[in-house]
Parts: sequence; C-alpha cells; structure tokens
Amino acid sequence: MSIANKLARKELIAMVPYQSARRLFASSGDMQGKIWLNANEASGPGHYQVNSDSINRYPDFQPENLINAYRQYCRLSAENILATRGADEGIELIIRTFCQAYQDSVLICPPTYGMYAISAENHGADIIKVPLTKELALDLAGLKAQVGQAKVVFLCSPGNPTGNLLSQDEIQTALELFAESAIVVVDEAYIEFSPEQSVASWLKKYPHLVILRTLSKAFALAGLRCGFTLANTDIIAMLSKVIAPYPISAPVADIASTALAPSGLEQMNVRVQETNMLRVQLADWLAQQSWCSQVFNSDANFVLFRCQNETIKNFIFESLARQGILIRDQSKQQNLTDCLRISIGSEHELSLLKQTIINSFNDKLTTDNVITTTAQTAAKEN
Ligand SMILES: *Cc1c(COP(=O)(O)O)cnc(C)c1O
Repeated sequence: MSIANKLARKELIAMVPYQSARRLFASSGDMQGKIWLNANEASGPGHYQVNSDSINRYPDFQPENLINAYRQYCRLSAENILATRGADEGIELIIRTFCQAYQDSVLICPPTYGMYAISAENHGADIIKVPLTKELALDLAGLKAQVGQAKVVFLCSPGNPTGNLLSQDEIQTALELFAESAIVVVDEAYIEFSPEQSVASWLKKYPHLVILRTLSKAFALAGLRCGFTLANTDIIAMLSKVIAPYPISAPVADIASTALAPSGLEQMNVRVQETNMLRVQLADWLAQQSWCSQVFNSDANFVLFRCQNETIKNFIFESLARQGILIRDQSKQQNLTDCLRISIGSEHELSLLKQTIINSFNDKLTTDNVITTTAQTAAKEN
C-alpha cells in the first residue's frame, strides 16, 4: 500500500474526481486540431494586456479594481461581493463554511452541475437528492419534505446540463421553505444569456440567498479562473474567513477588470446575442432530425438533446469524435438516458458539426446497403 493510500482520509481512496471535459480528453493531446464543444466555453480568443509593475507584491485580498468593476456590472455593493477562483471555489467555500463534516448535508436537484456533489463528498458532507420533475422544474413538495435536513441547497438557473431557467416563483417558494434552516444557492453561471431572470436584486429580501457567477461562460474567460459569490454581508464575512488570503492573482484581476469595463461588457453582449441566435438555429435543426427524439429548451450557451436510442447516441458521439469534434455525453445523469450536450461554438464550428453528422449517417446508410446487398447476393449464390 502506498504511503498516500495508507494515510489519506478513507473516503478519498475510492473517490472519482470531477470528470471535466478537459480531463476526459487530456490524453487526446493537441488542443489546436480539435473543435471543443464539450465544456460550454466561448469560441475564439480574447486579447488582454497585463500590468506586471507590482507583481513583486501580494495582491489585495479582494483587488479593488476588480470588485469595483463587478459592483457596477451587478449593481450591488462591494460588501455583497466575494471574488473567487472560479465559481467552483465559491461552491467549495459555501460547503466548507456551512457544513460540519460527517454531520451536515447539502441538497441538490439532479440532473445538475457535478461539482456540488464532488465538493460535498470531498468535504465529508452528505448529499440529499431531490430530482427535478419531468418538466425540469423544482419538485417543491420533495423540497418541503427535506426542510431541516440540509444546510445548503443548490439550485442552478439556467441549469447545466439541462439549459432551462427555473421559474422565479419556484425559486421564491424554495427560498421561503428554507428561510430558517439552509443557505439557498442560486447558481447563475449562465445568467448573461437571459439577464432579466437574475435574482441578484432579491438579496435585500432574503438573508440566506447566495448567488454564484462566473467569467468562464458569457465572458469567454474560462482559462482565467474568476468567479463571484454574491450574498449579504454576514455571509460574505463568514466565507472570507475560509477563503485563502490572496485568492485572486494580480494578472487575473487586471484581465477581469478589462473584461468588465464598458467596452468589455459591450463585447460580451454581442457574444451573447450571437450565441443565442446560433443556439436557436442548432435547436431547430436538431428538432428536424429523425434520430432526435427531444430537444430541451435552453437559455444558455448549449443545447441538450435526446437521441432515439443508445446506439444512435453512441454513433453520433463517436462519429463526431473521430472528426475531432468533441461534445458531451450526459446520458449517465438522472433522467437523461441517451442525451448529448453541444456547446454553442462559432458558426463555422457548428456547421462542421452538422455536416459531419449528416455525412456519417449517409456513409452508414451506404455501408448498411452494401452489407445488405452483399448478404442478399451471398444468399442467392448459396
Ligand atoms: C461552468 C460552471 C460553473 C463553474 O464555473 P467556473 O467559474 O469556471 O469555476 C459553475 N456552475 C455551473 C452551473 C457551471 O456550468
């Protein structure tokens, strides 16, 4: 037994880490030759300059330029904002702050974002599941039955991998159910694609509400690792006790501030409009395909769809992968049998994707015909 296995916390030995899109394809080598439509990233690079004048100094705990820029963007006060190393760090901080290890639980509503469960497991918090309904709405009766059992409730709107917004009425009901007993987290990683649906303005009314945001999706900065936790001052103060002393590096703060300045916001809005348009086109196209049995409504930068059966699901996934086009298989998630998810890349990338699918089915048809014909000929000859 290795020294690591001998000394580690027992539950870590069998634990499987988050299977990120990047990790799943790490072995496939070059990033350049591939079309990445599996991690909900934006397509195309950004161009930024960093200022290294003070790089010999530790950064501020919360860099002022960054917090100021985000404060103006989200229309809250600086005291309501905590900048983190991606929204993922926000998830982890919330669990570490509010859940006593080996005692408390978090509540999730699958199918949902994988990191809630991973972070909970990592910390030794139990996981209570209240699945979304068939219509992908919150199961309010199911939630009500769990009041008092969980310390943190994770809601995701728009949802990942589902894509749909939760109705504001449902979020409000959930907030009221857990008002005395849990932190209710609304993960708004994709809210820029339907900004009018944000619940950020509800912080005044709900002291137990926490909102997660990120620059990884609509802002096209997944590689930067910058996110924000929005909450009332008591919660921000508590999270600040748990977070590392210098969570945001100075170059990250510089680049993020530029992305949040007026011209950066303008670019983001253009990107969002284009993405929303391409998403509608892709969803319409998918809906017309005979092998596609369901296209889920999306308010984010990806589309989830169901294939007629598992054979077709695997055929599409593998045909695309063979051509270097990577999408995400979501079929192992609760209620998502035979489902695949495509991130909205550039117009060019999506047209390559459609063409590759069309060609693969045509090739398959030809091959199937050849096989049948050969078989028929062989049968006749026998
Ligand atoms: C991508 C994503 C995150 C994580 O964002 P980072 O800021 O890159 O850590 C959080 N929640 C959801 C729902 C996501 O899809």
